[in-house]
Amino acid sequence: PSQDDPPYLRGLNAPQREAVLTTDGPVLVLAGAGTGKTAALTARLAHLLYTRKAYPSEILSVTFTNKAAKEMRHRVGALVGDMVEGMPWLGTFHAIGAKMLRRHAELVGLKSNFTILDTDDQLRLLKSLILAADIDEKRFPARSLAGIIDGWKNKGLTPKDIDAGESELYANGRGQEMYRAYQDRLKALNACDFGDLLLHMLTILRDHRDVLEQYQQRFRYIMVDEYQDTNSVQYLWLRLLAQERRNIACVGDDDQSIYSWRGAKVENILKFERDFPGAKVIRLEQNYRSTPHILGAASGVIANNGGRLGKTLWTDIDVGEKVKVVGVWDGPEEARRVAQEIEDRRRDGTPLDDMAILVRAQHQTREFEDRFIATGIPYRIVGGFRFYERAEIRDALAYLRVVAQPADDLAFERIVNVPKRGLGDKAIARIHQLSRAMGVPMSEAAARILDTDELTGAAKRSLGNLVGDFARWRMKADELPHAELARQLLDESGYTAMLEADRSAEAAGRLENLGELVRAMEEYDSLGAFLEHVSLVMENEGRDTGAKVTIMTIHAAKGLEYDTVFLVGWEEGLFPSQRSLDEGGVASLEEERRLAYVAITRARRRAIILHAANRRIYGQWNSSIPSRFVGELPGEHIDSETTMTGGASLWQANWSERADPFADVARGTGRGPGWQRAAGVSAGVDVKNPGGAYTPRSFSREPSRVKEATRSAVSL
Ligand code: ATP
Ligand code: MG
Repeated sequence: PSQDDPPYLRGLNAPQREAVLTTDGPVLVLAGAGTGKTAALTARLAHLLYTRKAYPSEILSVTFTNKAAKEMRHRVGALVGDMVEGMPWLGTFHAIGAKMLRRHAELVGLKSNFTILDTDDQLRLLKSLILAADIDEKRFPARSLAGIIDGWKNKGLTPKDIDAGESELYANGRGQEMYRAYQDRLKALNACDFGDLLLHMLTILRDHRDVLEQYQQRFRYIMVDEYQDTNSVQYLWLRLLAQERRNIACVGDDDQSIYSWRGAKVENILKFERDFPGAKVIRLEQNYRSTPHILGAASGVIANNGGRLGKTLWTDIDVGEKVKVVGVWDGPEEARRVAQEIEDRRRDGTPLDDMAILVRAQHQTREFEDRFIATGIPYRIVGGFRFYERAEIRDALAYLRVVAQPADDLAFERIVNVPKRGLGDKAIARIHQLSRAMGVPMSEAAARILDTDELTGAAKRSLGNLVGDFARWRMKADELPHAELARQLLDESGYTAMLEADRSAEAAGRLENLGELVRAMEEYDSLGAFLEHVSLVMENEGRDTGAKVTIMTIHAAKGLEYDTVFLVGWEEGLFPSQRSLDEGGVASLEEERRLAYVAITRARRRAIILHAANRRIYGQWNSSIPSRFVGELPGEHIDSETTMTGGASLWQANWSERADPFADVARGTGRGPGWQRAAGVSAGVDVKNPGGAYTPRSFSREPSRVKEATRSAVSL
């Protein structure tokens, strides 16, 4: 490092400089979390511009999120000033694909003003095609077809590339036919979906030499961040574009590959050296982000994965606090504890913006949102909706509002045909008219319209059922606990069944959210009090200034960093997720472990891991077991504490020995470690409410994570 260094090189270490200054030829930076991969890529971009090796329009830089692109643009701007003007090709794969496709749309039969469909449009379109093809949508839902087609697109397969085996994935071999019908229909609509943005471009680059050459000439330099999470179509696209000049630099970390469920292929890292022989592989080993304890904890966990490329990580940051592991009694206590800790840290001077809560599943945000609203801690949800804004939650709330408040027309309109009951726009318009003419709410107009000839046949019958249902639910509202009413209402309205028929991962998440909603209701004295709470929550959302704590999923946190990070719900069945346990494969468990690694390494100075001994699931208390990842944290890097009396020393003993706390349990010796007993783990016994649980119809299927917890638990 010398005094005359341009600003973007100052402070970079030797291998980082190498990554910046090796501009020509293929470069692969393979390094652990927080080693400055993104920083090096940013400096490299600055260097290319500063030394005028390329115009801004001649550099293709791919980031993982739009937010990351914005940040990179901002940082390069700070480094090299207005030389950064432009940079049209800095963005996500999707954003760049869309921009290119607009220029060449006609080559795949589209016009340049094509529409990009969102998921809802996509589903509606698929449904109509399924209907037209005489396929039973109940057995072969549109959502599954959407997922299958997405998978094909991620692999770079067009309809003609689908073989019989792939085609079997949908409706007894009709997959290819439906894929083709869908693509044709999109073309007719002058539209495409997200997957097409890259797939169409790949097709164009393959079939039109002149276009390919034009881009190969244009892009003097190509750079890719988070390379470990590229999928096949992205990889093939990059390879074509880079083949001629071979000035491609990718940075990634095999331990942070967490998108295999979206088709990402970590093997692309290995392929790189094969496709670009002579590639310079650079390893960064100094971590600038985290304290040694945080790094030690993260490394200890990821060491349990097999088949890693392997790397060294060190830091010269002063020893800070150990990673705190806190065992609490239940979910509400977890939220209280986090809120308390946030207040304490805020008093110590840590800005709210520099703290984050990372959850494994979306539904976990609810408990924290409610707590923060109650205690006035401002928060934001990144990469998802706030709990009460989610579609299924709004639907459920709309049902409850119509029960509690028959004059609530907005709520009535929202759910009158959800799930579908054959009440089309026309029927709804009639109810509207009548309601206005008679000056009564729509739900009452709906009852009265049944006495007229306005509606006939199926529409009349199903409206009759709905009116009857609401009358019954209103009566029950006086007798049943309101959470129970909600459960029955969701089942009897067909809402639960609608989501159950839908096999997508998304639907499972929606069902979990509904379970969480019912759980939330139990914390309020009456339906009215609960609905009041919700409207206050919604109101709270208007104000959008000032510092806020961030709540987000681990997936959304990739590439980011915070001073203090709360890692909540580290329990078997929650994290690792029940789905990953049910699949049973090593691969899915290892992906969960990589998530744990990503989660811990987001923290700069403080990481606090929490797990609860009890979770309420559909009204029933269930004991849970700390995540195996807790057991994998090396004892010398953690401080554990439990708020449950008597257990602390035993818990500590277990973790510090780094024993596998589940070994005995899994073998069924019945002699589980003491801490489990201290935590009140008991086989299937409802700890807080023994024998008091009611199990309604659809919700009665015990979620499998409960089974998991009981299976490996020890009897008292
Ligand atoms: P991840 O794997 O999580 O994406 P990364 O390898 O991309 O991490 P960066 O986000 O680039 O790491 O850097 C982590 C932190 O270290 C940032 O705060 C960055 O500013 C800082 N940093 C990077 N390089 C250096 C350096 N040479 N000297 C000081 N700080 C650095
Ligand atoms: Mg990064």
